[in-house]
Amino acid sequence: MNSISRETKLTLAYIFIAFLFSVAVRMIWVYQFNDMEAFKFNGQFMISTNDGYYFAEGARDFLSGMHQENDLSPIDNATSLLTAFFAKILPFSFESVIFYMPVFLSSLIVVPIILIARSIHNLEMGFIAALLASIGHSYYNRTMAGYYDTDMLNIVLPMFLLWSIIWAIKTNEDKYLLLTALDILLYRWWYPQSYSLEFSFFGLILLYALIYDRKNSYNYKLLAIMMFAMMNLDAFVRLPIVLVAMYLFKEEKFQKYIYHILAVSVIAFFATGGFDPIWAQLKGYVFKDALTVGEEGLKLHFFSVMQTVREAGQISFVTFAERISGHVVTFILSVLGFLYLAYRHKIMLFGLPMIGLGFLALFGGLRFTIYAVPVLAFGVAFLITEVSLKMPTKKLKYLSLVAFTLAILYPNIEHVDSYKVPTVFNATEVKILDDLKTKVSREDYIVSWWDFGYPLRYYSDVKTLIDGGKHSGDVNFPVSFMLSNPQEVSAKLARLDVEYTEKTFKFQKENKDKNLTVFSNIEQMTKEYGFKDTNDFLTSLSTDIHMPEKTRDIYFYLPFRMLEIYPTVTVFSNLNLMNGKQEPSPFFFVSKSFSEKENSIELGNGVSINKKEQTLKIGKQSVPIKRFAKTFYDANMELQKEMSMIHINGGVNVIYMSNYNTFLVLDDKTYESLYIQLMVLEEYDKTLFEKVTMNPHAKVYKLKI
Ligand code: MN
Repeated sequence: MNSISRETKLTLAYIFIAFLFSVAVRMIWVYQFNDMEAFKFNGQFMISTNDGYYFAEGARDFLSGMHQENDLSPIDNATSLLTAFFAKILPFSFESVIFYMPVFLSSLIVVPIILIARSIHNLEMGFIAALLASIGHSYYNRTMAGYYDTDMLNIVLPMFLLWSIIWAIKTNEDKYLLLTALDILLYRWWYPQSYSLEFSFFGLILLYALIYDRKNSYNYKLLAIMMFAMMNLDAFVRLPIVLVAMYLFKEEKFQKYIYHILAVSVIAFFATGGFDPIWAQLKGYVFKDALTVGEEGLKLHFFSVMQTVREAGQISFVTFAERISGHVVTFILSVLGFLYLAYRHKIMLFGLPMIGLGFLALFGGLRFTIYAVPVLAFGVAFLITEVSLKMPTKKLKYLSLVAFTLAILYPNIEHVDSYKVPTVFNATEVKILDDLKTKVSREDYIVSWWDFGYPLRYYSDVKTLIDGGKHSGDVNFPVSFMLSNPQEVSAKLARLDVEYTEKTFKFQKENKDKNLTVFSNIEQMTKEYGFKDTNDFLTSLSTDIHMPEKTRDIYFYLPFRMLEIYPTVTVFSNLNLMNGKQEPSPFFFVSKSFSEKENSIELGNGVSINKKEQTLKIGKQSVPIKRFAKTFYDANMELQKEMSMIHINGGVNVIYMSNYNTFLVLDDKTYESLYIQLMVLEEYDKTLFEKVTMNPHAKVYKLKI
């Protein structure tokens, strides 16, 4: 009895120390940027992940008890609800809660790690693995202070699942059946895409049961209760079903029906569509299409966002290894150590799905590495404890434990120290958004590129057309078109797109159960204006077409930083929707490091301006410059311009934004685009727009039509 309680005490002590360690390392960033006022809003650091603003919006609206119809605010999202809960019970500001939530929640990873190690009575291994995994390179990157996203529990929850599965198989105790099912419910609630990992665990248990332990009915109970927990039904339906199954499993008289219950669970899983998301994902890997084509109606061809956000395809082995273990040597030792650990303790093989998902990073992008971090940490930790056992004296044993542990932690702490990620916005930009909140109504729309959607909704509480989750080719098309086309057609399309967006929401609500096809806004417009060809409709925008009734105001948010992504922005509308043919990309060249010579200005990349001839040299080619514009801010921070027409038939336009230290070389279409005219030159059509905020960081215009 005494030895058990000692083990429990030690377990708690290790968990406590490892948790504090994980939190402390995450405070390094906070310490480094303590004086950085540009990273703060309302006296607190801002978050460093764009998507976080989505959950923050939902939490804010949940707390205030209201939000606007169709504003896409996620008031019932798990992350938002948990955030609202913490903001309600804790005496800290909302900004503090979202900034520090990842620090504390992600550090919970040490709990299942140490508990899993306890199952093989090697707490030291658990402690070392917990220290390593809690700050492991990729785990740290996605759970650091300010990285407010689902990642803060995305590894913690499957590690708890692994823990309950290991203890279930090892002890065959009923309580682990329930814990496994509850963890699946929780994990699915937190992260709906969790099905692939849950399903892998299920498959592995099934394999284990069939090969090694076929006669043990406990395994089938475990599989059945997992199936029930994984059905494609609301959690409030799955929970009572899980509880009923649990009751049946405990009653002696139902023991002979275990196989029937398992059969029912499998049928229920498939019948409710539990397998559908897995099937869809498998299909998605096989058919990776660049274009998405509607199946009915005009069959428009939209650009697929996958092409622009795809993370750099292949990652190098060194990057892969460092992201999992902090160092290539540690990684190799971790893999070898895990093989040895699994050989000595077969039960650890249940960690394979996490490693497998982590190794997907070699093909599917580096974000997957995070899954392999904790399980592989067991590997090197096990080697360290094994080596220490071989030491001749107790003193050497502890010395080796400490020395090797510090050695594997060191590269990771070094990484933390050098990983100086900035916040998504700087204080000035957020001030603009915060001011907007008082100038716009919550029902108004702000048009901007999707990167700015969530933050606009969080800070300014408005509606947006596209955001970090709503950015497929069909919704991006109109916004891309508005930003890269002349003011008049863009203004009209803005009014149309906003009114059609609201109209479509209404249509969907009224026809919820009719399963009607919802066409893209641009397709609806084309048809309703009597065209069969979208290009004809777009051309008609420059004529005097009838505009829909105005139901709300529309604003344009045009940040300077959108300049960097302007070519990406244009891609979505720079194609013929009727046949999917991409138009040649616009000529767009930005130089931020240039040098003035006697006769020329060297812009880099072989591009230079010949001052005497007033031509642009691109490689060996020489093009006459059409317009030259120079902008600068005067003492009142008003934008001033010097513009001159040089060669009326010239091929390119040059803009020198002197205060931004930036040269732009643009073709005519880009020069005439709404973004360049309104953001860079403040040359706006006063019948269409009015100025709202003219800050060098971002300009906001209100649409007058
Ligand atoms: Mn709202």
